[in-house]
Amino acid sequence: MSNDRQTPSREALIESIYQTFEDFALPFSATNHPGCCECDGYAEELAGVQRQDLTMLHIGTVCWGPIPFLTPAAMAYYFPRLAEFAILNAENKEGDPFRFQFLGALRDAKAKQFTLFEGKHRLAVLEVLTFLEKERTLASDDDDTGLDTLDSVVTSWKNTLNSES
Ligand SMILES: [Zn+2]
Repeated sequence: MSNDRQTPSREALIESIYQTFEDFALPFSATNHPGCCECDGYAEELAGVQRQDLTMLHIGTVCWGPIPFLTPAAMAYYFPRLAEFAILNAENKEGDPFRFQFLGALRDAKAKQFTLFEGKHRLAVLEVLTFLEKERTLASDDDDTGLDTLDSVVTSWKNTLNSES
């Protein structure tokens, strides 16, 4: 399985996602929710953390983690790293597939968090989702739990892409 993780197509995809998002700079603060201890804590933990240095310790779990609270700038900055974890099928802090957390974060393409995503970024999101779709069919294991989510996420992103062009 570890060899499979190094196939060129995965690496090429990851590389292209980083390139597409390269113009986004490390934001001064990853959250913007003044007076909220939780968000302040996340901002503190992410202060100065470059996208390639983001780890599962920062990302946490479905129940505890900064992703839902990231500002649009922080989401745009960290997106390539999140996509990389999803593409590599990394496990989150609890040993669950990060992919589910990733899909949950992407559920609504029109969410405020994605307001900085332009056409090319949205296309890149769709590339990642298409990759996850292909892998799902190949996997044929017990991953049905993600089926509905993945389909509805894909639809959401396709719709915003169509409505923008
Ligand atoms: Zn908060």
